[in-house]
Amino acid sequence: MKFERDEELIAFTQRLIRCRSYSGEEEGVVQILSEKFKEIGAEITIDRYGDIIACVKGDRHGPTILFDGHIDTVPVPDPSVWSHDPFGGEIADGKLYGRGTSDMKGADAAMAIAILRYVQAHGRDFPGEICFAGVVHEECFEGVASREISRIVKPDFVVIGEASEMNLKIGQRGRAEIKVETYGKSAHSSNPEKGINAVYKMVRLIERLRAVPVPEYPGLAKGNMELTDIVSVPYPGASVLPSLCSVTYDRRLLPKETPGSVLKPVLDIIGQMEAEDPEFKAKAYFTAGEERCYTGEPIADTRFFPGWKYDASEPYVQKVKQRLDEIGICPELTAYNFCTNGSHYAGEAGIRTMGFGPSREDLAHTVDEYVEVDQLVAAMHGYIGIMEALLEEDDR
Ligand SMILES: [Zn+2]
Repeated sequence: MKFERDEELIAFTQRLIRCRSYSGEEEGVVQILSEKFKEIGAEITIDRYGDIIACVKGDRHGPTILFDGHIDTVPVPDPSVWSHDPFGGEIADGKLYGRGTSDMKGADAAMAIAILRYVQAHGRDFPGEICFAGVVHEECFEGVASREISRIVKPDFVVIGEASEMNLKIGQRGRAEIKVETYGKSAHSSNPEKGINAVYKMVRLIERLRAVPVPEYPGLAKGNMELTDIVSVPYPGASVLPSLCSVTYDRRLLPKETPGSVLKPVLDIIGQMEAEDPEFKAKAYFTAGEERCYTGEPIADTRFFPGWKYDASEPYVQKVKQRLDEIGICPELTAYNFCTNGSHYAGEAGIRTMGFGPSREDLAHTVDEYVEVDQLVAAMHGYIGIMEALLEEDDR
């Protein structure tokens, strides 16, 4: 796979990188994208969260394709450890450096330019509708802002541009965050028999939770439930028995798992332990978060983002794979290891979804994050190929 260097695409990616857009600060990038899509007369909507949605309708009936790219990035805590300016968009040795190059402004730029090129080549002479969504706040809430987008766009197909190294992703594990708390009774630690130590109770509960079997699903890595923090109250505890102990679990989800099915084994064990020990008291629940969008709108949700997986034999997967093979990209059909906006589109809304993007998954959130210029350009051609495949006349 070798495509000609594309100056418009490279320059546009650099513009996006030079405009810092931490979660909740995406307004500048929305402006840049909005200007770009106006060049082809796209209909532009900014929703209440500040997502930008740009759509171009063909002159006849057909499917709606949505290209989804988040436009927020994780922060750069210490720019001095970078060997290139994280907001400079510098190119060296065929790599374009900067925060968000890999995750995922490179893909955003490639999707935008691909849509421009497709529309410049076809005018309105195509079936259906092509939409791009630049999504805010993905780094904190995968799929929450996307709910608003799918309500507005009602897509038949979604292309997630997260890094796939030019492979075609047809699934991902989801993610949930579970808080478990045990309750004790304060007492001076010189007389522990007068109280109940919440940490001792938690230690026993943790052991029992570790023995819960993890779910499996064909084509995806196993589900898991990993303890990520533990806190006792009061902290620090000066000569006092802790009255509360809380732990957080990161739970990786598989398709078909629901909030109820995920919490059930945890609650069952708590129930058993309460029956065995009258002093044992505990609770388990999904955590919730709230942030503010640049529009002023709060964005909040319970942290439960479902997994999803499509079969390689699905006609839309085969059609796209064949077209990408024809243009020399030859993707493998695999699944993402991390959580994406696909949690909403495929996991919650059941919309046919695929992931395709430049760069490696493991470059996200790193120091000296980069995207290879060759992959950036190839991804842009890949997106054009996906439009050609899904907007064929015989599609429905
Ligand atoms: Zn991402």
